[in-house]
Amino acid sequence: MPAPIADRLVRLLHHRRAGLKRGDPIGLPVVQSSAFHLPGGPEADHVYGRDGNPTWTAVETQISILEDAPALAFPSGMAAITAVLMTELRPGDRILLPSDGYYVVRAFVQEVLVPMGILATEWPTADFASAPVEEARLVWAETPSNPGLDACDIAALAARVHAAGGRLAVDNTTMTPLLQSPLDLGADIVAASDTKAMSGHGDVLFGHVATRDKAAMARLKRWRKISGSIPGPAEAALVHRGIETLELRLARMVETAGLIAPRLAAHPAVRALRYPGLPGDPAFAITRQQARGAGFLIGFTLKDEAAAEAFLNRCTALFPATSFGSVHTSAERRARWGDNVPEGFVRLSVGCEPAGALWAAISQALAGL
Ligand code: PLP
Repeated sequence: MPAPIADRLVRLLHHRRAGLKRGDPIGLPVVQSSAFHLPGGPEADHVYGRDGNPTWTAVETQISILEDAPALAFPSGMAAITAVLMTELRPGDRILLPSDGYYVVRAFVQEVLVPMGILATEWPTADFASAPVEEARLVWAETPSNPGLDACDIAALAARVHAAGGRLAVDNTTMTPLLQSPLDLGADIVAASDTKAMSGHGDVLFGHVATRDKAAMARLKRWRKISGSIPGPAEAALVHRGIETLELRLARMVETAGLIAPRLAAHPAVRALRYPGLPGDPAFAITRQQARGAGFLIGFTLKDEAAAEAFLNRCTALFPATSFGSVHTSAERRARWGDNVPEGFVRLSVGCEPAGALWAAISQALAGL
């Protein structure tokens, strides 16, 4: 029985209490050390900076509480994702992955794994219910997908994948473990970029993997140690600080996205809009069934590239940037990276600004487009 999310949040904020001695700091110390005092035998909580670090342990404890599963920290979302791919797949195995998910994952599969003898099938997230999972050793899902915001049913997918003898990994970056718990829905592994909403301030790159499968976790831990794919202690402390306000930030971001999405959809300059929280959106029913909120990402299409660029340049309440999930609203035209979206498609990441003032700035920037 998964722990209720409210209990996870209380434990998250107080997880350090049990380990404190009288006079210890409540704020998380940044342990900036590559080496640890190690006379005699090699047994100790911390041995060498590539094996472990108390500041990583603190953030991993937070993430484990949120995921209700053991978690490992990585220096970026891609480092977390590639750790899963490198430890789950062998030459001759097939991976089924979204054709519309984060494009760097497809690049890693095509440029690194396929030349090493791994087979790959790309499939659109919206059609994952009919994907040929029987052929795949590992199914990789991302829901809602970035940037198209299509969704797939994690529980149904997990059941099909397991019946066929495969394993399911989910990239949960667009939702965070607060809004969606893929492991509770039956996924074997969850990976995410904590560069986004988890850390939440646009000042750090980070990632994590969580799994209840002990053998998979042992492989991942070994991978991190022998590949050297490790986070820095200062980054871990920034993420720890960010996660403490995750619930507050997401509550504001998701509420504001829910207010702004229908206003944008009704705006004469907007030709199409995707937000999983809007009734009528193709991702609405699945997202409502499996997530605790519809997220803070909105995709909308303006007339053309010029209109989208004009909007991004004019709007004083957003940063034109290729990231999302920060306290600051940001947006970008995804076709500039070659994503399969219209030239005028804008991915908007709603931040923590007051909703009324944010909408005023957005509608002002859209005027006349
Ligand atoms: N997964 C998704 C869905 C993403 O959007 C991103 C980055 O944008 C990543 C993974 C990679 O994360 P990072 O940039 O932290 O390596």
